[in-house]
Amino acid sequence: MAAPWRDVVRDAAAVREAAAVAVDAALLAGVLMRTGEQPPASDVVNYAPFTLFPSVVPRALFEQAYAVQQDFNMLVDAISQNKEFLEQTLASTIKVDDFTAQLFRIYMQVLEEGLAQTVVLGINRSDYMFDCGLDGTAALRQIEINTIAASFGGLTSRTADVHGLVLKVLGKTEEASHLLPNNPAKGLALGIAKAWELYGSQRAVVMFLVEDVQRNIFDQRCVENELWNRNIRVIRKRFRDVFERGSLDASRRLYMDGQEVAVVYYREGYVPQNYDQQNWEARLLLERSRAVKCPNIATQLAGTKKVQQELSRPGMLEKLLPGRPEAVTRIRATFAGLYSLDEGEEGDRIAATAIADPESFVLKPQREGGGNNLYGEELRQVLEKIKDSPERTSYILMDKIKPQPALNYLLRAHSPLQVSECVSELGIFGVYVRQGQELVLNQAAGHLLRTKAIEHADGGVAAGVAVLDTPYLV
Ligand code: ADP
Ligand code: MG
Repeated sequence: MAAPWRDVVRDAAAVREAAAVAVDAALLAGVLMRTGEQPPASDVVNYAPFTLFPSVVPRALFEQAYAVQQDFNMLVDAISQNKEFLEQTLASTIKVDDFTAQLFRIYMQVLEEGLAQTVVLGINRSDYMFDCGLDGTAALRQIEINTIAASFGGLTSRTADVHGLVLKVLGKTEEASHLLPNNPAKGLALGIAKAWELYGSQRAVVMFLVEDVQRNIFDQRCVENELWNRNIRVIRKRFRDVFERGSLDASRRLYMDGQEVAVVYYREGYVPQNYDQQNWEARLLLERSRAVKCPNIATQLAGTKKVQQELSRPGMLEKLLPGRPEAVTRIRATFAGLYSLDEGEEGDRIAATAIADPESFVLKPQREGGGNNLYGEELRQVLEKIKDSPERTSYILMDKIKPQPALNYLLRAHSPLQVSECVSELGIFGVYVRQGQELVLNQAAGHLLRTKAIEHADGGVAAGVAVLDTPYLV
């Protein structure tokens, strides 16, 4: 679908002028990140990378993605309560993947002790690309669902205004008026606030668990400030702080520096590099506590790629969401082909197929954060090497999604202004709160569009590959 501003994409003077306006507008609007050179400093910042133009997104697919979000919330929540499913699904993975195995050990340990946590808060982001069929029609295909530390719900709320201004500068005032308002941070804060309220202690705080280096702090501050606006206290701590100064009382209430913690919101803890022995101990302490963890360890495991792959097996969704055939249909309609590499005939067959045709697949390990997947020739080589070893079960295979590229400019500090062929990935934020067995909140909270140049097969905004964008619905 051609963009209504295609006439100006190659107009160098117009583009230069619009880019200058866009960068200043982004800085004014708070589309900010700390810099790679001075990551701990908030007095040296720059704009977070973003596209010059909004990107065209088919309205029907956008609406489809929103319409299935409550179903995905329900599904993740159901998986997180299904010990048998998690045990069976991850059995082969945890034999070969140490990180998943360590998460799983904590999961089993807290179940054995008995859960002190009675209120559950889930914040996730389901990501999609638009697969272009042979006849040119696009289909919504889920890439993955992120159940921990799903980011950019804050910064993305500020890009629509920037893109609106760009379109006006380019004489596209009518088009500018069609850009949708979007504020995921508000929706995420609503969920956190609800969980805090149900926890039931006025004095208790919300703890953001953050990384040592926090380049994306402004994105987090958007959520944080929404909570302060509701008069909920927020503290920011690292695993190390929890290890040194966190404690549980007799009823497993969590205390940090003498303050009771109602909700722990993880913006950390999703990759092996986030953990040393002390951090694992801190994680266990948090999981054992009564505090509402977002996510709890079970929900983090529900977001693994192995779980995603098992969900695509015939009959699996029906088992997990009994009595909800419409939800099952909506969810399944977004699935791409997903394949197990477990030992046995099924795995042997798909491994051979992928080695013969590596351009049609993506090889994914159980990792988050971008830059871990394998494509093309590299996929072929790695799979060839591990195809007869148990190591292959630490991966899954997925059909490669092939979106239709479009021209855009990726605005990055200190980078030249040049046109690129780009593809986009749409994320929908979901938030839900459960008290005991009752789902008291279940919503889609907003969207995120990220766009990257086609020469990069993999990687998100934090990984320095994709940039923030705004959907323009057609
Ligand atoms: P991560 O947890 O590292 O974010 P993803 O599954 O989201 O892992 O993959 C990272 C990136 O790789 C995605 O943002 C997307 O650009 C690309 N990607 C992932 N799966 C596919 C696929 N099936 N087809 C095409 N590109 C993909
Ligand atoms: Mg991803």
